[in-house]
Amino acid sequence: MSANRCVQKKTEDYETHRIELRYDARAVSIDPDKKRITIHTGEQIRYDKLVLAHGGDLFIPPIPGIDQSGVFSCKQLSETRKLAAHHGTSAVVIGSGAIGIEAAEALKRKGVDVYVIELMDWILPSLFDEPTAKRLETELTGYGIQVFTHEKVMEIKGDGNVTGVVTDRRTLDCDTVVVATGVVPGTALARTAGIETGRGIQVNRQMQTSDPDIYACGDCVETIDACTGEIAMFQLKHNAIEQAQVAARHILGEPVRYLGAYAFARAHFSTPMPPPSEKPSGHWIVCSEISALWNGKTKAIICGW
Ligand SMILES: Cc1cc2nc3c(=O)[nH]c(=O)nc-3n(C[C@H](O)[C@H](O)[C@H](O)COP(=O)(O)OP(=O)(O)OC[C@H]3O[C@@H](n4cnc5c(N)ncnc54)[C@H](O)[C@@H]3O)c2cc1C
Repeated sequence: MSANRCVQKKTEDYETHRIELRYDARAVSIDPDKKRITIHTGEQIRYDKLVLAHGGDLFIPPIPGIDQSGVFSCKQLSETRKLAAHHGTSAVVIGSGAIGIEAAEALKRKGVDVYVIELMDWILPSLFDEPTAKRLETELTGYGIQVFTHEKVMEIKGDGNVTGVVTDRRTLDCDTVVVATGVVPGTALARTAGIETGRGIQVNRQMQTSDPDIYACGDCVETIDACTGEIAMFQLKHNAIEQAQVAARHILGEPVRYLGAYAFARAHFSTPMPPPSEKPSGHWIVCSEISALWNGKTKAIICGW
């Protein structure tokens, strides 16, 4: 997908709705008493209601050798562009969350040999139970992507440029490493305001933080599973959008209530996977056999695409 298709709104669209966009402006602190935020230049901006929607940061594990050339992440578009411009032939993807699996797929389509290393017992461990994950793993293997689960990366080898990855079970030669080890909710800004945080910024069913004039939504919040009611971190776009809508509507005075996040994920492989030069002919979605209980019934969502 081209970057232009990722960004669907233009600056003028915001101007039309009287939204002032500030680029290159990083919020660094919040003063909840004076109701002001400070950006990195020192400029202060006043608010009546504040919405924290600053997402999370890529978790970078402390693996020796991770700073070398040839190691990429996929959190930011700029990083992804660097990976796309890197002409590697053999890649190790560390982490098998949704981002890792998508990166593996994209690299395979480019004709790169791909290995996925996952610390847990099965791939996509925060989204799927083992039987479902194993089905997807079988598909990945069928496409020529080698998956190693229950395996820990110990070191990235190289002389400044990556030459291999050492795990607790093997050494893999490679010239490309993709770090896809998860996104950590951003909580530092909220803490400058004394807002309560756990794994993420804590919010109520109206997306208000412990300061009722400060809302939070998206990847930076700690949320609940809509089906089980347990605390969950499902950092997915549909959850972020729904949370933002709840926050906005509550600010406008509507009696809304957020029901929780959904862990459903998509697997983007076409069947069968086409050669890299061809466009995919279709997609399938894996959302089956999720064993969480929902009102005493098994939650099983099976979708076609
Ligand atoms: C490679 C990749 C693939 C994904 N694929 C899918 C998918 O297929 N389906 C799906 O549902 N989800 C997917 N996601 C997850 C989805 O993108 C996120 O859940 C969603 O973007 C969260 O929205 P957000 O607004 O909370 O955070 P973000 O989209 O991360 O936006 C946060 C913004 O805040 C800015 N910011 C951060 N700190 C500050 C600060 N201090 N001051 C000012 N600005 C700041 C950041 O620069 C960023 O622009 C994917 C994520 C990645 C990285």
